[in-house]
Amino acid sequence: MRTPLIAANWKMNKTIGEALSFAGTFLDILYSQGGESFPVEIVICPPFTAVPALCATFAGKNVAVGGQNLYWEEKGAFTGEISPVMLRDAGCKYVIVGHSERRRLFAENDEMVAKKVRSALDHGLRPIVCVGETLEERDEGRTFEVCEGQVRKDLSLVKAQEIPSIVIAYEPVWAIGTGKEARPDDAGEVIVHIRETVNQVFGPGTSQNLRVLYGGSVKSSNIRQFMLKEEIDGALVGGASLDPEEFFKIALESKKAKAKN
Ligand code: PEP
Repeated sequence: MRTPLIAANWKMNKTIGEALSFAGTFLDILYSQGGESFPVEIVICPPFTAVPALCATFAGKNVAVGGQNLYWEEKGAFTGEISPVMLRDAGCKYVIVGHSERRRLFAENDEMVAKKVRSALDHGLRPIVCVGETLEERDEGRTFEVCEGQVRKDLSLVKAQEIPSIVIAYEPVWAIGTGKEARPDDAGEVIVHIRETVNQVFGPGTSQNLRVLYGGSVKSSNIRQFMLKEEIDGALVGGASLDPEEFFKIALESKKAKAKN
């Protein structure tokens, strides 16, 4: 049984004060609804400046903090980058790798993503590896091919026994920040294909221990349809994660949906 996971990607949003205000409200709601025993793992990935404050606020609580990116080296002359050692030192447990905005706006390719995944694992961080097709690729009927290719390349430096420490987020690029979510059946099919790819590469049954999330315009009103699918373990949430009440509702709906499965 895989633990459901709901992760927030705040992107370049929230000052330290705003992050702390979110955290206070979110913890109040979470602990009024079961706190420690809440059966959905929650991860918040703020901008780097807010990581230490959030780690301090969530210490001993049922909420983990993640980075939104990392560089694969431990230290050195890499102006503007952040290392896995620094993320761990600040208290992060997770790190988003290969988000489509980084691939598109900052020229990240699969080779770089693979090195980042390796480095995260080497330093005890759980990578949330983002894959997904563009609208053009979908229209050309290449969704499976593109996602399979990304999974094969991005996990090329991973060992089979490390699969349980990895999370894959299937995020169709055309669904991110557009308000147009994928059809749950379509997302489910792609995620099944991702699982089959992982089984082919790492051995039969490996993907039973791999959490795969859906991401792209998730909100409290549509999360249920995704979470009812056995192959979908959670969501990576952008815009709707900025509001503590809405983000909590997404986690709550996820809990209810998985309780039905
Ligand atoms: C994301 O950025 O990973 C994302 C899924 O964004 P949104 O929920 O806003 O579509």
